[in-house]
Amino acid sequence: MKCFYHNDRDAVAQCSECGKFLCSDCAEKWEPPLCPSCGKSISSYNRSSAAASLILTVILLVLGGLFTGFMYFSTDSTFYSFGEKIFGVVLYSYMIAGFPAGWRKLSGLTSRLFLALPVVGWVFYFGIKIGLSAIVGLVMLPVETVKAIRTLKQG
Ligand SMILES: [Zn+2]
Ligand SMILES: [Zn+2]
Repeated sequence: MKCFYHNDRDAVAQCSECGKFLCSDCAEKWEPPLCPSCGKSISSYNRSSAAASLILTVILLVLGGLFTGFMYFSTDSTFYSFGEKIFGVVLYSYMIAGFPAGWRKLSGLTSRLFLALPVVGWVFYFGIKIGLSAIVGLVMLPVETVKAIRTLKQG
C-alpha cells in the first residue's frame, strides 16, 4: 500500500478518522495519525469548542456575579459585612462558572457507574453529582481555561 498523498511512499499508518493510508511523514503530524484534511477539521473543531467553553465561562461569571450580587446586596442585611458580601459574590460566581467543567470531569469518571445504577439511584446520582460538580469545578475551571487558551493559540 502507498500513501494516499505520496504515491511513491509506502504507507505505515492509516488515518484514524477516514482510514486513508499514510506514509511516515504524513502519519507523524498528528497523534493519533490523521490525514491532512481530517487533522485540519479536528483541530478547527477543537478550536471552536475551546472558544465556546471560554465564552460560556465568561457568560457564567457575569451572570453568576449579577445573580449572587443581587442576592447579597438587594437585602439590607447587616449579617454580612461588605467584604464578606464581595467574597461571597466572587466565590459563588466562580463556582457557577466552574460547574460545567466539573460536570464534564465527573461524567468522564462516572459514565460506567451511571449505567449500573437502578432508576432510584439516578436521583441520588444527580443530586450528588450536582454538588460534587460545583466543588470539582473549582479546580477544573482554571485547568480547562488554560487548556482552551492553549488550543486557541495553536495555529
Ligand atoms: Zn482522514
Ligand atoms: Zn504521505
